[in-house]
Amino acid sequence: MKQTGDLNLVKKINKSIVLHHIRTDSPISRARIAEITGLTKATVSSLVNELIESSLVDEIGVGESSGGRKPMMLLFNGTAGYAIGVDLGVHDILAVLTDLTGKVVREKRVNHDNPSAQEVIDLLKATIRDLINGAPESVYGIIGIGIGVPGICDEDGTLLFAPNLEWENVPLQKYMEETFHIPVVIDNEANAGAVGEKQFGAGRETANLVYVSIGIGIGAGIIIKGELYRGATGFSGEIGHISIQHDGPKCRCGSLGCWELYASEHALLERARQEFGSSITLEMLLRKAEAGDAAIIALFERLGYFLGVGVVNIINSYNPEFVILGGRLAGAEKWLMKPLLQLLEKRSLPHPRKLLNVAFSELSDRSTVLGAASFAVTKFFASTTVSVEHN
Ligand SMILES: [Zn+2]
Repeated sequence: MKQTGDLNLVKKINKSIVLHHIRTDSPISRARIAEITGLTKATVSSLVNELIESSLVDEIGVGESSGGRKPMMLLFNGTAGYAIGVDLGVHDILAVLTDLTGKVVREKRVNHDNPSAQEVIDLLKATIRDLINGAPESVYGIIGIGIGVPGICDEDGTLLFAPNLEWENVPLQKYMEETFHIPVVIDNEANAGAVGEKQFGAGRETANLVYVSIGIGIGAGIIIKGELYRGATGFSGEIGHISIQHDGPKCRCGSLGCWELYASEHALLERARQEFGSSITLEMLLRKAEAGDAAIIALFERLGYFLGVGVVNIINSYNPEFVILGGRLAGAEKWLMKPLLQLLEKRSLPHPRKLLNVAFSELSDRSTVLGAASFAVTKFFASTTVSVEHN
């Protein structure tokens, strides 16, 4: 690389650092940024001017000063562009339009009964198009789309295997980029959920957390030292398929006695349908439990026990500070939590359990969409602020 290229790279990295502080600590003054970063005031000023020119930063009001001229404060301009975040579920699609700070501007949910991959992809495109058409005017427009999927995918955004959707080798990122001509990020829904919780939810103050997504299946997103842990080849977190009964029933993954056969929403409904008829839904179970139906409450308590069995394994494996449970079962927290905590008390090793917090998500079912939108925003800033220009 030529020397000008190196200097250019240094400048871009510095600009990215300055923007990072304005995004996370605004309102902030130029002097304060210089103080935190160790860059000279002249460098900070010149980079800030470029950021103001590119509409990513605004100057507002006046800040506190210890004397002399009061400094202008800098504010991140979150509405310079918008991102789309999607949670592609086995029975529904939840999609949001957020600004660059993750604030939800619009939301759309559609149900589907998974007729075929092609039909679900068409529905996905229609849902995204609807949000794009309703987006406010902005300098950068829609900067990207993030999609959380219930399966494993490769780095090219091909959904390799989604057992509960019964999809294999679907090049979802390619399809979406060909349709919308904007950058698309595809990731596992539990990974997106973990990032959503870390940035916007219960995990904001936590560097080591495991987010457990309980839906039709069970997946986990693992955050270690503030970063998503993806494993050697990107397939970490398939925690619904840890075997909790060595000779148990056969799972769709090919193994036996997997955790999600006992502790998922699907497992709860299967059991409930055996006892109370095939038309029962989670909403009906929640209503009946709320009305004091002892048999239904017992079903939830049994589920809480099985959730605990898997969470013990997570605690003993990862020693997290926080285990956050997400998904629609959060609505059953008051019946699930007690048996779950009792089991942890009895079975997890005492040292990893110290300081541990276990809670249901504060974001309701938005962990994954917010994390997915944040993947798109991260990709946008990576490309606009630190890319190397060859000149
Ligand atoms: Zn399995």
